[in-house]
Amino acid sequence: MSAYQPVTPEIISALQAAVGADAVTTAQAELELHSKDQSHHHAHLADVLVYPTTAEHVSSVLRLAHEHLIPVTAWGVGTGLEGSAIPVYGGISISFEKMNQIVQVYADDFQVTVQPGIGHKDLNAILARQGLFFAPDPGANATVGGMLANNAAGIRTVKYGASKDNVLKMQVALADGTLINVGSRSVKQSSGYDLLHLFVGSEGTLGIITEATLKLVPVPSLMSAVVAAFESVDAAVEAVVAVRGSGLDPAALELIDAAHCRMLRMTENVDLSDHPTLFMEFHAAHESTLRSGLDAVKEICEELGAISFRATTDPAERRQLWHARHHSYEIMVRSHPGYQFFIMDVAVPISAYPALIGYVEHLKQETGIVAYMIGHAGDGNIHVEFPFADQDEYERCMVMNGLIVEKALELGGTSTGEHGVGLGKARYMAKEHGGALDVMRAIKQTLDPKGILNPGKIFIG
Ligand SMILES: Cc1cc2nc3c(=O)[nH]c(=O)nc-3n(C[C@H](O)[C@H](O)[C@H](O)COP(=O)(O)OP(=O)(O)OC[C@H]3O[C@@H](n4cnc5c(N)ncnc54)[C@H](O)[C@@H]3O)c2cc1C
Repeated sequence: MSAYQPVTPEIISALQAAVGADAVTTAQAELELHSKDQSHHHAHLADVLVYPTTAEHVSSVLRLAHEHLIPVTAWGVGTGLEGSAIPVYGGISISFEKMNQIVQVYADDFQVTVQPGIGHKDLNAILARQGLFFAPDPGANATVGGMLANNAAGIRTVKYGASKDNVLKMQVALADGTLINVGSRSVKQSSGYDLLHLFVGSEGTLGIITEATLKLVPVPSLMSAVVAAFESVDAAVEAVVAVRGSGLDPAALELIDAAHCRMLRMTENVDLSDHPTLFMEFHAAHESTLRSGLDAVKEICEELGAISFRATTDPAERRQLWHARHHSYEIMVRSHPGYQFFIMDVAVPISAYPALIGYVEHLKQETGIVAYMIGHAGDGNIHVEFPFADQDEYERCMVMNGLIVEKALELGGTSTGEHGVGLGKARYMAKEHGGALDVMRAIKQTLDPKGILNPGKIFIG
């Protein structure tokens, strides 16, 4: 690791000259607000926080940091769940809060170019007027820059793909401040190395995204919500595999365990039973297509022993059901006053999903640990959420996390389906990637030879 230099009053003055005095702060309260994301990882303060409004500002900040060997960590809105935005080596934190404009909508091409600090929900509220939306949905109002940096996915990925599948072009500031464009507005691209996707998912360790052109899709004219409860997790998971195998193309296929359903029922008054439940959504252009799809899903679920099945095309009822799913995290936090949460994320091929979920159930029973399961089941992705109140309980969560990651890798999966590596998954990178990790290190060394970009993330040491 490089011997970083301190942020001196001279550096602060140079930053103020580069981005404006109002856009640079060392105020304790603001540094604290940018010291910890939504994960269980410890907070760390940056020395200085800057709020750029243009790509040129970002470029100037990086030029200065590069010259003076100062670490730089980008900050979207801090909803990350693996500590990837925490400035663990201090230095400069770049907050994209004020770089949040739509640059241009290309409605005829189903594309939009945005600054990285725009929240995806804010973006979609504006695009809705033109009947378009950006499909990846991580639940929280994450920024587009943070989503691309983490390759965030979420509820609709089963139909529309993850962030990486919905970006065409980006402007990126390299470690020395050079601005480059990667990708193209053409939907088909076959020109040279795929640098676009090298930067996507790199968590701000290879470059900082200053602009992105995203793919959009038309807002579906008809949507339905389906809720199906099962006696056991095994039966619910079997239904996930069957629905995926049926070619029915769900737009969402989520698994919520019995304990979570109980919480939703008790706090949100949602009509759920205390059983493992699948939440699904289907999109269609014609009523008849939607109806025949729903009949087929009902048949699959009932054949696999669903104890209840409800489908609705009523927009208000659909919104209420998804409101409960979207707010499940806040509901869980509210239901456990005095607790913190260790939220882990792994994914496996869909055929291995039953084995993964069965293993988590077995661990829960064997250890008696309290844990909730909620997952983007259609993608083979599960989050296990552990409440903890003290260091001993935290360490138990760490052990469980390790066991579940090992199992996911053994089943041909990955240590993280969507939350990224950050601080928490770095220790599993060698096991997951073997020799390919050396190639990743070589790429990091080439693009960031001084190691100033988000140090301490992805790699250990
Ligand atoms: C309730 C809740 C539910 C969630 N559900 C999901 C889910 O379903 N799916 C999912 O994928 N995630 C989910 N997340 C996690 C989180 O929303 C995503 O990881 C999201 O991508 C983080 O975006 P952010 O803007 O908050 O970025 P931050 O947390 O601020 O930063 C994330 C990473 O992006 C980097 N970064 C930020 N901006 C830039 C930039 N312009 N250029 C380069 N790097 C940058 C940061 O340095 C950091 O490495 C959830 C989080 C919460 C709290």
